[in-house]
Amino acid sequence: MGKCMIIGCGGVASVAIHKCCQNSEVFEGIMIASRTKSKCDALKEKLQPITKTVIETAQVNADNVDELIALIESYKPDVVLNLALPYQDLTIMDACLATKTHYVDTANYEPLDTAKFEYKWQWAYRERFEKAGITALLGSGFDPGVTGVFSAYAMKHEFDEINYIDILDCNGGDHGYPFATNFNPEINIREVSAKGSYIEDGKWVETEPMEIKRVYDFKGVGQKDMYLLHHEELESLALNIKGIKRIRFFMTFGQSYLTHLKCLENVGMTSIEPIMYEGKEIVPLQFLKAVLPDPASLGPRTVGKTNIGCIFRGKKDGKDKNYYLYNICDHQECYKEVGSQAISYTTGVPAMIGAMMIMTGTWKKAGVYNIEEFDPDPFMEALNKWGLPWEEDFDPVLVD
Ligand code: NDP
Repeated sequence: MGKCMIIGCGGVASVAIHKCCQNSEVFEGIMIASRTKSKCDALKEKLQPITKTVIETAQVNADNVDELIALIESYKPDVVLNLALPYQDLTIMDACLATKTHYVDTANYEPLDTAKFEYKWQWAYRERFEKAGITALLGSGFDPGVTGVFSAYAMKHEFDEINYIDILDCNGGDHGYPFATNFNPEINIREVSAKGSYIEDGKWVETEPMEIKRVYDFKGVGQKDMYLLHHEELESLALNIKGIKRIRFFMTFGQSYLTHLKCLENVGMTSIEPIMYEGKEIVPLQFLKAVLPDPASLGPRTVGKTNIGCIFRGKKDGKDKNYYLYNICDHQECYKEVGSQAISYTTGVPAMIGAMMIMTGTWKKAGVYNIEEFDPDPFMEALNKWGLPWEEDFDPVLVD
């Protein structure tokens, strides 16, 4: 069917690459291009003998638009799948515009110097992508990603209007370390140490970090503490889903994680303000990342399950209705299949599916779109087929 260039070769990319290689009919060729080429070569060595997908590798600095343009022009992919870090979103979008290549990512742009999760920078590309006749699909991971597809599916099939959405992200996995993050530590800690917020009646309501706590009994996992966080898909879902009055995002955290995080915060280790150390400028959070366990190393040691989904409340045929759509994913099963834990798996699989939707022309419209703006049905089908089957509950316990 076509060729895909994958930028980045970390935890999420590794899963997406495994999945592309299982799906050679669509992904006839992939190029893995990242900062550290040896990681790309190691994956190629592992996967090329067992896949029909032709794998190429390259070194690229994705902060450099000219380098990206040259690489895209030489490989000529149908789609660029950005699985580097949020800081690279705009340079990669610029290179896609210059080469008229479709673009897919899993996280919205974030400037290095402020931990601010907003779509405004990427939405500003709408007209230019439309004029160039190419698609940018934003947020094709799990959350954002599958949560948006779930919302579009609920809207299409189960409701006339959705008034309340609670997104619940539960990780019941245990890696045995007192403190480690399941994906890029810098991005993860920036996210959880920021103020919380949710949208009510069209306005953002801000909370202190971890101020709002609830307890929920998750199927497949059990009872967990969860905390309200700001999350990027709230912004787009509040605009794209009809009738929204309130939308919130909760994530589970264990006590050990929170105690360590508080301590690291209190001593200044989570700061993103550069400091001088022995004549060299360092960012404390980036230094912390360097001493924490690499998320990729958690795969073999993580046991337990994740349960991520959305509880919808709204109206159907004039009557009140509640509906819960979720996926349960097992860390060890993911590890057996692709050598990664479930957090990378639940992001990497939808990233492959998003790229597939664009490559096959199943999703086709020029411009910059969030995932819930496309027909959810083919994506929902693909989730069942490619390892993230969903379950539904028509009488869920609600979050107060
Ligand atoms: P990793 O840190 O494991 O991987 C990032 C990769 O990008 C690394 O291979 C890194 O290279 C590469 N990279 C970083 N900077 C550059 C650059 N300037 N040029 C080229 N390559 C670069 O992160 P994850 O795999 O955990 O996360 C990847 C993305 O997925 C992030 O944007 C994250 O926010 C997003 N995400 C989304 C989720 C969702 O559900 N939507 C959930 C989890 C993550 P090197 O190997 O040299 O370090």
